[in-house]
Amino acid sequence: MSQTILLIEDNMQNRYLVTFLLESQGHKVISATDGVEGIELAKTLTPDLILLDIQLPGMNGYEVARTLRGMDNLKETKIIAVTSYAMVGDRDKALESGCNGYIEKPINPETFLDEIALFHRSPSNVKGSP
Ligand code: MN
Repeated sequence: MSQTILLIEDNMQNRYLVTFLLESQGHKVISATDGVEGIELAKTLTPDLILLDIQLPGMNGYEVARTLRGMDNLKETKIIAVTSYAMVGDRDKALESGCNGYIEKPINPETFLDEIALFHRSPSNVKGSP
């Protein structure tokens, strides 16, 4: 199913790669290069999914996640943190700040779409489930 996905990522190469992979599956990808721009876009877009880099200039990913989680129009929107492989503590912090899960960097083109699909199908996406 085609989804609208907001990508908040300051690294151009990652933006190109993720956008290419998602568009190849028919998704619509809108990208922002920092948290402030991402939050602004999220207000009007109401994306199905937000991919959020944690290491961003200015506002970091945790702050961005907390802000997004507080927005009324994003109650049904999954937020997935994109964290560095080495930074294990970041994952817990990402979940605490309101992300539904995380994906590790570097992005692996072979497995990326499967990882994303898992979040689409996870039970918490179904209204009324525990
Ligand atoms: Mn970054």
